[in-house]
Amino acid sequence: MKKIIELDVYQELAMKTSKDFGSKEKQLEYAILSLCGEAGELANLLKKKVYHNKKNIEKDNFIDEASDVLWYLSCIMNALGIKLSDLATFNIEKLSKRYKDGKYTEKHYSK
Ligand SMILES: [Mg+2]
Repeated sequence: MKKIIELDVYQELAMKTSKDFGSKEKQLEYAILSLCGEAGELANLLKKKVYHNKKNIEKDNFIDEASDVLWYLSCIMNALGIKLSDLATFNIEKLSKRYKDGKYTEKHYSK
């Protein structure tokens, strides 16, 4: 399996902007709570667009909030000593076991 190393460059750059909490445990706790908050902001965009009919919510707004999710995910992995490339590679390997033909089909959903 090809390792997705470009994510490690992102993680290294992103972590330069992370606050030092004095311990990995505190960094992990703060990052997990913050990731939940950012995921909520992402969901809120969709809510406003779909249910409040906000026409001014565009792709850039989703990119902005999704990038916050990525940043906090990077913080979480950093606190655990895990590279984003290892996380991504793990996920692709998991998916390749689940989807033997390499892509999603309706037969997978019915399981
Ligand atoms: Mg945000």
